[in-house]
Amino acid sequence: MKALQYRAIGAPPEVVEVDTPEPGPGEVRLRVTAAGLCHSDWFLMGLPADQYVYGLPLTLGHEAAGVVDKLGPGATGVALGDSVAVYGPWGCGRCRACAQGREDYCPNAAGLGIAPPGLGAPGAMAEYMIVDDPRHLVRLDGLDPVDCVSLTDAGLTPYHAIRSSSDKLWPGSTAVVIGVGGLGHVAVQILRATTAATIVAVDLDDDKLALATEVGAHHTVRSDSHAALRIRELTDGIGAEVVFDFVGAEATLQIAKEVVALDGDVQIVGIGGATLPTGFFSTPFGASVRAPYWGSRSELLEVLDLARSGAVRVHVERFGLADAPEAYRRLHDGDIRGRAVVVP
Ligand code: NAD
Ligand code: ZN
Repeated sequence: MKALQYRAIGAPPEVVEVDTPEPGPGEVRLRVTAAGLCHSDWFLMGLPADQYVYGLPLTLGHEAAGVVDKLGPGATGVALGDSVAVYGPWGCGRCRACAQGREDYCPNAAGLGIAPPGLGAPGAMAEYMIVDDPRHLVRLDGLDPVDCVSLTDAGLTPYHAIRSSSDKLWPGSTAVVIGVGGLGHVAVQILRATTAATIVAVDLDDDKLALATEVGAHHTVRSDSHAALRIRELTDGIGAEVVFDFVGAEATLQIAKEVVALDGDVQIVGIGGATLPTGFFSTPFGASVRAPYWGSRSELLEVLDLARSGAVRVHVERFGLADAPEAYRRLHDGDIRGRAVVVP
């Protein structure tokens, strides 16, 4: 089969021919119907050799949807032909976090060598992929895989961040969304669907700000040295109860620090490499700073239900597997509106 692999540190990913995988005991093979591109793929492809921990060659793709194609010995709970989405942050399945469906915070996964597809295990940018356990599959029940595959990360990750700040997002509150890319444009919609907060979207790019308005942002602010002042003005000086930073760079965390309200939350979702020190006379009294990771299994079901209700729609640009390297180049250049999805 064909697969898109990251094969050498610093080299662009390439489409190669590899053996079609066989499902082992308890595993499920999917014929991939859609695979989303995430900026995190660029994060890992930008790491120097001494920090790179994902194995080579690595088949990319941690947003996955497919049709159940073959069951390994003893695998039950799904049937051949089921159209499913893949829950990506695989845990051990037995600890307290996993028992709550919060496999994204499994303390045992790393030690057991369990890694998400596309982030250690072979990912979805291929004709077929292996899923380690049927519990990591969610039936799409009529949802289109290409339209919905990115809800497994670009939907689930912002949903998880938003839910954990929901007690701050009362009517009259302000939520700032920095970075209206794959995750950010879904975040705006989830905020609209699940809260009554006023949404201020921040981006460097005018077209991304236009997309933010299209998907429901109340205000847009260009990400420059005046951004914090502008957001303070929009909030009558109070600031934003919650800031969601989908970039995580020095410049955006500076905006977050300057606009977060007293007792507000900063959710650093973007892996831009910067940090935000917190303490007295650094961040406002009561402010919390958090770096949430992905989301829980039950939250994935909720995000898919939001899509079913029509409240959330991913803006998708489709590519074939052969064009995936080009899609990654465009993602790198900030040239994707919404999410790029590969259809093998
Ligand atoms: P993307 O490339 O689709 O979107 C990034 C957006 O940020 C673009 O619209 C870009 O114009 C904008 N941007 C860049 N620099 C900016 C700046 N200085 N100010 C304002 N806007 C700026 O990326 P994505 O796939 O949506 O991923 C967003 C981030 O989230 C990445 O860092 C990714 O690695 C990270 N991520 C984290 C998790 C997690 O679990 N925490 C999960 C998925 C992705
Ligand atoms: Zn991702």
